[in-house]
Amino acid sequence: MDIREISSEKLLEYLQQKNEKPFRAIQLHQWLWEKNVFSFDEMFNIPKNLQKKLKTDFSFLQTTIEKEFVSKDKSIKFLFQLFDSEQIEGVLIPSQGRVTACVSSQVGCALRCTFCATGMLGFKRQLRFWEIIDQYVLMNHRSMEIFGIHVSNIVFMGMGEPLLNYENVSKAIEILTSDNGNRISPSRITLSTVGIVAGIRKLADERFKSNLALSLHVADHDLRSLLIPANKTNTIKELQDALRYYVEKTNQRITIEYLLLNKLNDSLADAEKLCHFCKAFPVKINIIEYNETTTQYKPSTPEVKIAFTKYLKAKNLIVNVRQSMGKDIAAACGQLTIGEHY
Ligand code: SAH
Repeated sequence: MDIREISSEKLLEYLQQKNEKPFRAIQLHQWLWEKNVFSFDEMFNIPKNLQKKLKTDFSFLQTTIEKEFVSKDKSIKFLFQLFDSEQIEGVLIPSQGRVTACVSSQVGCALRCTFCATGMLGFKRQLRFWEIIDQYVLMNHRSMEIFGIHVSNIVFMGMGEPLLNYENVSKAIEILTSDNGNRISPSRITLSTVGIVAGIRKLADERFKSNLALSLHVADHDLRSLLIPANKTNTIKELQDALRYYVEKTNQRITIEYLLLNKLNDSLADAEKLCHFCKAFPVKINIIEYNETTTQYKPSTPEVKIAFTKYLKAKNLIVNVRQSMGKDIAAACGQLTIGEHY
């Protein structure tokens, strides 16, 4: 078993069996979750003979940076190698004195959204919660080295669907935000979902404290089902109900991601449907541009984008038009596969 998988009760039992003092559990916890070391050798206040026992009885599986791709806009894409040779990607995005780390939640993705390169990979396996934290730790080190500042924000917008790996994602967020962990404010973490209704309701019941973003992209049921197959089993109506429930429980504003695709979902009638969808709860809308992948879509024209945005603003909605970063290294939304190209 990996040392990061053992529960505190079981670790205490283990230490007792080995005639070790219980406070070693606290020291171990600090090395693993506050100092985020990657080996037993670095735990210098753990006596050598206990380090040796731990090495014999537990594995300490490694996530490493296999490759880095640097964009001309300074964002950096990381190719991570996991313990079983699977690979995932993450991205560091510097802007205005902040650095955002975009992490993956699964190896590949099962959703097959028609505009997304990651979806074409298919699903390989779930990431363990510590593999999610490893991405943050490794990118945080590099952020310090390259930009001279710590990672300030984390977004679950890399590969995979976070709400289809609920247990590991919520455990990773718990540790990242814990006083005995990385002490990151929950408000600096955003979980982005395609709209898994059961997962959204579970987050609501657990009074989720981080931000929730929904990749809505289309507010029309039939068209959304065509573009996003998951919409067939998590319908717009169910999504709306789940979001209403989420807002009731958490009192939070939801971010709606809307990807503008030329002549598909960018008319004023589509904007109207979007307004209608957002009526039931407080939202912030992010208009995203289409990043080129192997899929056949085209971005909306600048004029259409302006008209669409203007329509929403006239309805008193909060709207941000997002510029994608890292497009030259295939690091932007929807472009993550494995390596330099999508
Ligand atoms: N599965 C989650 C997390 C992935 S986040 C989710 O769907 O939210 C990645 C974001 O990039 C999603 O909003 C996704 O819909 C969007 N995306 C996918 N392909 C894209 C493309 N070609 N251009 C721009 N955004 C894209």
